[in-house]
Amino acid sequence: MQNVWINGASLPAIGQGTWYMGENPALRAQEIAALQAGLAAGLQVIDTAEMYADGEAERVVGEALQGRRDSAWLVSKVYPWNASEADITGACERSLQRLKTDYLDLYLLHWRGNIPLEETLRGMEKLVAQGKIRSWGVSNFDSDDMEELWAEEGGFSCATNQVLYHLASRGIEHTLLPLCQQRAMPVMAYCPLAQAGRLRQALFDNAQLLALARDKQISVAQLLLSWAIRHEGLIAIPKAGSVAHVQENAAALNITLSAEEIALLDQLFPAPQQRMPLDVV
Ligand code: NDP
Repeated sequence: MQNVWINGASLPAIGQGTWYMGENPALRAQEIAALQAGLAAGLQVIDTAEMYADGEAERVVGEALQGRRDSAWLVSKVYPWNASEADITGACERSLQRLKTDYLDLYLLHWRGNIPLEETLRGMEKLVAQGKIRSWGVSNFDSDDMEELWAEEGGFSCATNQVLYHLASRGIEHTLLPLCQQRAMPVMAYCPLAQAGRLRQALFDNAQLLALARDKQISVAQLLLSWAIRHEGLIAIPKAGSVAHVQENAAALNITLSAEEIALLDQLFPAPQQRMPLDVV
């Protein structure tokens, strides 16, 4: 099983996303059951955000974690406009309340806004000192943003950068991922199953991917996840709204692709040959 180290914790390289959870009350019990099944299957990292369902996704996570907070490694994210030194504490406290916990394992700046990085960084460090968060990081930062952050005093405390990455969107492989690997900073891959829409369909209906998955007796989703986590220091956080999906995703932790299989995937969905702007949703 592949593990990734973040802030001194060794974590399974697949976690659980929560975007779109908490939007439909009829699905709530199923979402809670999925998160709990994921934890039981070893998917320790749960990723959420104050943005998701306007805080309702955090409430779903909070319910799922009742009586089992210690089995999860909990990540939430702050809106850029709440990430000033003055406002970040309140935003974090509201997240903690919805999550029914007194600490986050990781708190991320959701994307870069107008507040100077230095100020957000000071706010994050204050939250660490107060024990409200155990580490902080960023999301949707391209390589130039990372260089700016690392140039700030204390910038190297950034625990991760959460960015979009899947087989049909490999831009980070050219510059950003190698840069983070050089700095020994883990990368968290969001949308590892390509979320929804045209690209996702192109992957899930691709005849060669279907054939490769069938030969390995795995699903296309498992193929995509095992492919994403082949990188050292990369953790993927698929969102699964059912116990069946989450268990399937957890099983991908134990799937290894051969060099020939990886070469075939490279042929079908080539790695970028030049620097690409960061893909976002
Ligand atoms: P994903 O790529 O994880 O795709 C989610 C979709 O895949 C859902 O429709 C889900 O369906 C389906 N799915 C899950 N497991 C399987 C499976 N085994 N077989 C077939 N389909 C499956 O997209 P997300 O956008 O959800 O990204 C993952 C997470 O990353 C988010 O939930 C969020 O936590 C984070 N994120 C962060 C962003 C950022 O800006 N920092 C931006 C976007 C996402 P079902 O629900 O029915 O299981």
